[in-house]
Amino acid sequence: MKLGIWTTLFSLTVAQLAWGQTSGNSKLVNTEGTAPETSATSYTVIGATPKQEALVRAQIQVMQPDVYPLRVLFVPHWKYMETARIFRLHVPAGYTSAMFTHLPSRSVFIDSDRYVSDDSLGYWVAHELGHLAANSTRESDADKAAGGYRKRLKDAHKPDAH
Ligand SMILES: [Zn+2]
Repeated sequence: MKLGIWTTLFSLTVAQLAWGQTSGNSKLVNTEGTAPETSATSYTVIGATPKQEALVRAQIQVMQPDVYPLRVLFVPHWKYMETARIFRLHVPAGYTSAMFTHLPSRSVFIDSDRYVSDDSLGYWVAHELGHLAANSTRESDADKAAGGYRKRLKDAHKPDAH
């Protein structure tokens, strides 16, 4: 995607998120113009390569989370840090530092410059889905919910017995 288009898209998204944060979740959902409930396919993936998007969608489908995100955004590192600052989110160093979740808008932000491997993507996305399922910013709540999702991921990766 060309940088100009990307910047516009992202600015619109941030404006929408910032607005949603002050107006409450129900109003944000109305701006989506779709049914309030999301499903395995109705969330948006922004900024990912086609391969990353296919992978993250497949992993989320396997994990069958209790609460789906409304959008998953892959952003460059500088944008990731800036967004965290705008949302006044604490991004702990070395811990889930490659992604965070903005609960009011059900948005998962992934630092695309820190994209390590396909396996770690699923592992940490499980954690973020745990935040959504628990509707909690506490890491222990997220990890508790993530346990079941990680098990489903692991089971799906098991090689055939023969
Ligand atoms: Zn977390």
